[in-house]
Amino acid sequence: MIDLRSDTVTRPTELMRETMAAAEVGDDVYGEDPTVNRLESLAAEMLGKEAALFVSSGTQSNLLALMSHCQRGDEYIVGQLAHTYKYEAGGAAVLGSIQPQPLEFGANGSLDLEKVAAAIKPDDFHFAKTRLFCLENTQGGKVLPLSYLSDAADLARDYGLAFHLDGARVFNAAVKLETDVQTITRSFDSVSVCLSKGLGAPVGSVLCGSRSFIETARRWRKMVGGGMRQAGILAAAGIMALEKNVERLRVDHENAALLASGLKEIPSIDVEPFSAETNMVFTTLEPKRAVAMAVDLGKKGIIVSPEGRNRLVTHLDVTAEDIQKVLETIRSFLT
Ligand SMILES: *Cc1c(COP(=O)(O)O)cnc(C)c1O
Repeated sequence: MIDLRSDTVTRPTELMRETMAAAEVGDDVYGEDPTVNRLESLAAEMLGKEAALFVSSGTQSNLLALMSHCQRGDEYIVGQLAHTYKYEAGGAAVLGSIQPQPLEFGANGSLDLEKVAAAIKPDDFHFAKTRLFCLENTQGGKVLPLSYLSDAADLARDYGLAFHLDGARVFNAAVKLETDVQTITRSFDSVSVCLSKGLGAPVGSVLCGSRSFIETARRWRKMVGGGMRQAGILAAAGIMALEKNVERLRVDHENAALLASGLKEIPSIDVEPFSAETNMVFTTLEPKRAVAMAVDLGKKGIIVSPEGRNRLVTHLDVTAEDIQKVLETIRSFLT
């Protein structure tokens, strides 16, 4: 099967499974799992932060970050379509009593800094305390420009806000910009990175930040039930993902570009601007046709969501040959 719904569908390779099975383990709640400790040091070093915490998911990672930066009654500024706001079941509000201040993302995935500044509440007891500014990179597969990140960091500093990056796919951004990931993460106080997407681990994310921030996050992790025991079995896959699968993300980007340029030649399907900046291609198709197409592709071993506005995602388990097959199958269905 060729599954283009998401880069979360990757399966661990035989080698990854063997590495996981052979991992040295201990009780991580006692801080005694050597493989978890190794993953946390590696992540902190790669992302350029003092410390890191291995967590069950990107959702948990962002939740711990928000709860560590903000107190009850604080506010965070976030994109209207940001994962932390829209796709995490309202966790920051429900569990953290943190009020979101959502703003529309611009076409390139940034938040307009004038609008951000205007949304920061004055110190007045009528208002929640604006405490945190949160960005996402990549955002819908789009890479935030480095100059924007630097301006955004200046704004956060000027207003005394903490600055968090939901960097679920931050390595895709770094590979795309051909830069060290620290060029991107440097100006953030905290960064969350998914190991279980394009990097190919089966489970897990890492949250990175200062030592004291990570200690706070570790307490919240325990509270939300995320203290795992012999988690080294999972961390071993995370180490492998960070060591072996970062550079190859460029292959996913090439395959996405191949897919986008092939789809642009098919008249009845539209390819949205900003497609294939990294590993995502966005298409629009008349909704009923999109449903019929998903059924037809499914019979031919290709899985896509049955959405009119659709997201096609390349990853570790999709080859350039697969993309040719996808293009041929879509072309023959639509023409
Ligand atoms: C996937 C994703 C997350 C959450 O990761 P899960 O491991 O699925 O909880 C957070 N932010 C962004 C931008 C994501 O794409």
